[in-house]
Amino acid sequence: MTGSTTIKTGADHLAALRDGRDVRIDGRRVADVTTDPAFRGAVASAAALYDAQAAPGAVERLTYELPGGQGRRVNRAWQAPRSYADLLARRQALEAWAEGHAGFIGRSPDHVASCLTGMEMGIEVFEGYDRRRAAALRDCVADARARDAYLTYVIINPQADRSKAAHAQANPGLVLAIVDEDAGGITVHGAKMLATASVMANDIFVSCIQPLAPGDEAHAVAFVIPIATPGLRLLSRRSYEAHGGAPFDAPLASRFDENDAVAYFDDVRVPWDRVFAARDLKIMQAMWHATPAHVLQNYQCQIRLLVKMRFLAAVGRRITEINGTSNMPQVREALGQLAAEVGMVEGLLCGMEAKGTQWGDYYVPDRAMLYSAQVLTQQLYPRFIDSLRELAGGGLIMLPSSEADLRDPAIAADIARTQSSPSAAPFERVQFFKLAWDAIGSEFASRHVQYEKFYAGAQFVTRGHALRTFDWDAGTRLMNALLPPIPGQTSAEAAD
Ligand SMILES: Cc1cc2nc3c(=O)[nH]c(=O)nc-3n(C[C@H](O)[C@H](O)[C@H](O)COP(=O)(O)OP(=O)(O)OC[C@H]3O[C@@H](n4cnc5c(N)ncnc54)[C@H](O)[C@@H]3O)c2cc1C
Repeated sequence: MTGSTTIKTGADHLAALRDGRDVRIDGRRVADVTTDPAFRGAVASAAALYDAQAAPGAVERLTYELPGGQGRRVNRAWQAPRSYADLLARRQALEAWAEGHAGFIGRSPDHVASCLTGMEMGIEVFEGYDRRRAAALRDCVADARARDAYLTYVIINPQADRSKAAHAQANPGLVLAIVDEDAGGITVHGAKMLATASVMANDIFVSCIQPLAPGDEAHAVAFVIPIATPGLRLLSRRSYEAHGGAPFDAPLASRFDENDAVAYFDDVRVPWDRVFAARDLKIMQAMWHATPAHVLQNYQCQIRLLVKMRFLAAVGRRITEINGTSNMPQVREALGQLAAEVGMVEGLLCGMEAKGTQWGDYYVPDRAMLYSAQVLTQQLYPRFIDSLRELAGGGLIMLPSSEADLRDPAIAADIARTQSSPSAAPFERVQFFKLAWDAIGSEFASRHVQYEKFYAGAQFVTRGHALRTFDWDAGTRLMNALLPPIPGQTSAEAAD
């Protein structure tokens, strides 16, 4: 808090996470995510993001003042862009924020904030469906924005039998569905995947982006609730933070393991004023694709990815300096390729901004370019990681077992004798390769490959978006103009 300005801080965020949320891991219920060895590093990084935006030199760039908010400033992710200049200012803020985690927190708070802001920008779509549900969306977004809340979302039904619709799964209680409703609200039961960052978020947005089939009406539901709502259990995957070792051994996993969990809703009560959609198949697709939501949320992903790619390219170049290979012609070529690929990510980002369009009062990045970027970067990421592994050779593995080795004088002396580099002292070489391994080889790094390949949907889904939104007509006009006349056919016959 500065003068009459209020802004969320890391301490505010940590305090809000001590809310009795039900998180399960390794056979136990977590008492406090802010101190638990499975989560505390990631939670501290999330809190640090709020401190970063509250820092005096960053406030103007990273936040904006809520209109009528009496000095309340919140992250720019909540700001609906009205012009190209607005969009760029917003991007610069999101880019600077992502530098706080080098792009390794996939579901950072600006992701779902972007999604909900995009949905609100298309409020008329909800108005056309049901005015009460539109009012619930508007109120929930206003409330989350005013709190600068950290939301995550679960918008995918759990994998079971993907050849069957949600209602036709063998286990009838599996996929989250409305099981009861009355004048006060609905009761939902079942699971959703994957609640990334839910352990450190305030609220969860539940919806479904997968196409639903007739018969799936009970599964057609969208709402926002606090993570600490009774009956909501987060079934966490293995913690890479807990198993990765000390920060020296796992510099990324120890800080940015945002976690993923199955969200299990065990008869969870949701009041109507938090429900955006219920039992309507059409609005379930329209909320993503007839509003700017899907574009704005995935545009945020490309901003974050650019930051991560810059980081990874630097790791690649440092590998070659440390191994004395940086001037070898083939290695220079490989580094040039990495540079060009990061340039492509940035170029696509600038392109979707420059080619953006006015959407009523708002300015929205170009949809087709966004989907091009999604398809290409899903393919790029694993290839990029492989290129770094190729450059690194055994250096990623030729490492002391843990920081304890460096603390033991005898082992440390052996490490000093066996680690060597033309551009780093022995312990610096170890320090760097520990970071490189965590970025490109560790369990944490491997999960990131899976994340970048799937966070926006499998390839058949993202390619479908690219297919649907590409301007096929521009090329078709050219193609038709160049078709040679068919011998023996008059131009009138050809026009038929
Ligand atoms: C690390 C990670 C974090 C995630 N975080 C979130 C999150 O925060 N929130 C969230 O809601 N979701 C999250 N997800 C889920 C993500 O959205 C899904 O993984 C993604 O949408 C793909 O769905 P799926 O995993 O069910 O794969 P599936 O849809 O089952 O696809 C897997 C593969 O099966 C094949 N396949 C399946 N169906 C078809 C079909 N109809 N036609 C052709 N081929 C098919 C394809 O080969 C496809 O690649 C996360 C996923 C990962 C891996």
